[in-house]
Amino acid sequence: MPWLDACAQSALTYGHCAACGKAHFYPRPHCPHCHASDTGRATSAGIGAIYSWTTVHSKAASYTLAYVRLEEGFTMLTHLVGDPPVDGWHVGLSVVLGWVVTANGQNMPVFQQNRTNKEQAA
Ligand SMILES: [Zn+2]
Repeated sequence: MPWLDACAQSALTYGHCAACGKAHFYPRPHCPHCHASDTGRATSAGIGAIYSWTTVHSKAASYTLAYVRLEEGFTMLTHLVGDPPVDGWHVGLSVVLGWVVTANGQNMPVFQQNRTNKEQAA
């Protein structure tokens, strides 16, 4: 799978349509916006903002899922990792791409607070 192969090299790829110019995720052969087949792939810079989030509590562990809206214009479901800001995760918070290796050895994209932006704003 090309998307997972790119992940293995720590590259978050997304679909881009040459016909309408819009980004989409996951990458696919037909554009979900205009149905053209003139799609390709691009690599995200990995900077985005939280669109929606929730923390799931279970006996084994708690984890936080989020939809993150990337600056390139696509949204993806992902995990938030690391410490949340002092006021907690919130919609609009700037986040940055990171990578974790899953139990089966796959490199997967996650997001964490973008502390560079936070510190510059403080
Ligand atoms: Zn399109």
